[in-house]
Amino acid sequence: MTSHAALIDRYGRVATDLRVSVTDRCNLRCTYCMPPEGLPWLPGPDLLTDDEVGRLVRISVAHLGVREVRFTGGEPLLRPGLARIVAQAAALKPRPRLSLTTNAIGLHRLAGPLAEAGLDRVNVSLDTLDADRFVQLAHRRRLDDTLAGIAAAEAAGLKPVKINTVLMRGVNDDEAVPLLAFALEHGYELRFIEQMPLDAGHVWRREHMVTAAEILGRLTQAYELLPDPAERGGAPAETWLVAGHVMPDGTPARVGVIASVSQPFCRACDRTRLTADGAVRSCLFSREETSLRAALRAGASDDDLARLWREAMWGKPAGHGIDDPTFLQPSRPMSAIGG
Ligand code: SAM
Ligand code: SF4
Repeated sequence: MTSHAALIDRYGRVATDLRVSVTDRCNLRCTYCMPPEGLPWLPGPDLLTDDEVGRLVRISVAHLGVREVRFTGGEPLLRPGLARIVAQAAALKPRPRLSLTTNAIGLHRLAGPLAEAGLDRVNVSLDTLDADRFVQLAHRRRLDDTLAGIAAAEAAGLKPVKINTVLMRGVNDDEAVPLLAFALEHGYELRFIEQMPLDAGHVWRREHMVTAAEILGRLTQAYELLPDPAERGGAPAETWLVAGHVMPDGTPARVGVIASVSQPFCRACDRTRLTADGAVRSCLFSREETSLRAALRAGASDDDLARLWREAMWGKPAGHGIDDPTFLQPSRPMSAIGG
């Protein structure tokens, strides 16, 4: 018998949004994510193959009620079979919404093929518009490649292009307004993300974090922000309308802030995560995960895998607990979990 029960947890939340990490490798070394020397990458045989990823995505959609699939990493554009994985997901019924979180290096070349494969949208991470600062932040001189990738995504119709920015005190916190000006000029949707304790070096300190309140304080010095009448639903970003600005399609321009730390949205969280080596994580901050890979390779049926996935999600913690004195950072950094 085929089972069709949703990914529900014991607090009643239902996960419909799947983040799939397709690689733990990256061509940048953003300081809040990866050490300059990189990390010990997952050995090739541990990675799910394209078909294994395709099968698990199919199970999540057909058996578990997932409606939105986002491919991430590491840097997902480094995965050779990405377009094939996207095409497999786009062929599913019901067809999930498909997006990609990327640093956009290589998107210049890949935006067209990915759009053709069925990708709907991209979220590009961009923390600075200054080439030297980009090197300081990401340890590689690649700002031009990222900007070319963003433009290519737009040209390929992967819209609306969303930009994600992490501000760091004394590093790029003076760029809140220039980044919003850049986004408004091009018709991109900008969202600031509070820095979370997910760096490989475990050096995050709450008192260093640029808070959502500070970000808004900076933005409102240059822009009038109005309450957004749109329903927020499970969306992590709180959004504002930017008075006097519109998107290329005539809809009001918005800016968002994801206050994961100062105003956690765990109660509305609708995410489930799959790592590149086939483990389900119920939360970015989980210290436990459930590997599906061994069962998958031992011949488990779709129903067996769906059951294991459901069991993993049932134990999803109520919240990330960053404010709890006993909080421990997950052992895997963001790049290995899939941001
Ligand atoms: N390489 C891709 C990219 O950078 O978009 C996808 C993976 S990256 C881990 C996904 C997102 O996580 C990026 O937007 C990045 O800025 C964010 N991120 C990484 N480490 C973070 C941290 N410690 N706190 C907040 N966001 C973080
Ligand atoms: Fe790479 Fe993305 Fe992490 Fe930066 S945030 S090091 S681009 S995985």
